[in-house]
Amino acid sequence: MNIQHSQQSKVTTLPLKGERGGGLKQIAILGSTGSIGTQALQVIAAHADRFEARILTANRRWELLAEQARKFLPAAVVIADETYYEPLRTALADLPIAVYAGADALCQVVEGDEIDLVLTAMVGFAGLPPTIAAIRAGKPIALANKETMVVAGELINGLCQQFQVPILPVDSEHSAIFQSLMGEVSPIEKIILTASGGPFRTFTREQLESVTPAMALKHPNWDMGAKITIDSASMMNKGFEVIEAKWLFGVEPEKIQVVVHPQSVVHSAVQFADGAVKAQLGVPDMRVPIQLAFSFPERLQSDFDRLDWFTMHSLTFERPDTDRFRCLALAYESLRQGGNMPCIVNAANEIVNRAFLEGRCRFLQMADIIEQTMQRATFIKTPTYEDYLATDKEARRIAAEQTLPSKFV
Ligand code: NDP
Repeated sequence: MNIQHSQQSKVTTLPLKGERGGGLKQIAILGSTGSIGTQALQVIAAHADRFEARILTANRRWELLAEQARKFLPAAVVIADETYYEPLRTALADLPIAVYAGADALCQVVEGDEIDLVLTAMVGFAGLPPTIAAIRAGKPIALANKETMVVAGELINGLCQQFQVPILPVDSEHSAIFQSLMGEVSPIEKIILTASGGPFRTFTREQLESVTPAMALKHPNWDMGAKITIDSASMMNKGFEVIEAKWLFGVEPEKIQVVVHPQSVVHSAVQFADGAVKAQLGVPDMRVPIQLAFSFPERLQSDFDRLDWFTMHSLTFERPDTDRFRCLALAYESLRQGGNMPCIVNAANEIVNRAFLEGRCRFLQMADIIEQTMQRATFIKTPTYEDYLATDKEARRIAAEQTLPSKFV
């Protein structure tokens, strides 16, 4: 048991929040210190008459977590890396906030009776176990952690059906698709999944040979966490979104068309049998889909920027180039093979993404290593949850063997 708390060895019941709890939607934010997490807290602060942050969690950034806890007074906080339990506990000792540590605690806090919605804003495979725990506890999910659907979409869909749990998409593209489907009863003919193309959209293969992490971290339209920013530069992010769309909307990959749209104004669209296309447009701002996931089916007032139709000179659309951006092709291929292959791709990608950021592999090498890992890792046609855990470990090991170890950097 990893949970640490001054008086409790296990997360059982969370302290009630007294009169502050009444009538407000109680939201657990997994990953509150990240890009999505902090924007979610802005939404909560702007609608304090509707929402309350009940649980906040982080991996290591305990100081920011303590600051957030002081401001939002959640019932409990969890720091996943246990090394930071003591400083966090000390920082919050004067407040009635339960402090827990460890990955198991993340899974246990989401089960609390008082929680109305769980926002999964953690990054990577680590989001899978707490998302499953939340679904098993019957909690609606506001899904930002796309890796959960990439790794185990089929399993997650089965659990959502079993426990009657809705998933509300937070990813801007999937929120756009979700919004385009509102009120529709007819099947989807095609999903048009837009992509900004990232900072290297116009680069030649030769130029891509020498791009640096600093260049990749400068996304033209979105300010996001480091991992997803690198994934956007390689277009693996778009590949993951294809997989996410397949599982969220039940559409086969052949019917999901990626379209590069550098202005990121059309967030995605759906085409129907009569040829009609419905899209959702807006200024790129993640608080819009976060807020909608919190308030659905209502839309709440916001002071976010509005589209200015007269300064928006042109909206352009291009075919993606999977020769230069092979990660996108590998993601489609993993869907074609099915089974645990997307899980293999996700694990290998987490390794190369980190390695690229740390200067231990080159930009174009990322796709090579992922492809090698797809060939070498054990393929399982119908994986169980335990298989996903084992696959993640094996694929990480295989991918890591192909990157430079830290001591060489
Ligand atoms: P960030 O890196 O900014 O934040 C990640 C959050 O998860 C932080 O709170 C971090 O804690 C926590 N975390 C990281 N690793 C672990 C772990 N092993 N265990 C527990 N907590 C952990 O990421 P983003 O906010 O950018 O992205 C979050 C998710 O949302 C990703 O899956 C991403 O793909 C998705 N997403 C993000 C978008 C965006 O605009 N940022 C858009 C669409 C989807 P700490 O701060 O302590 O490291």
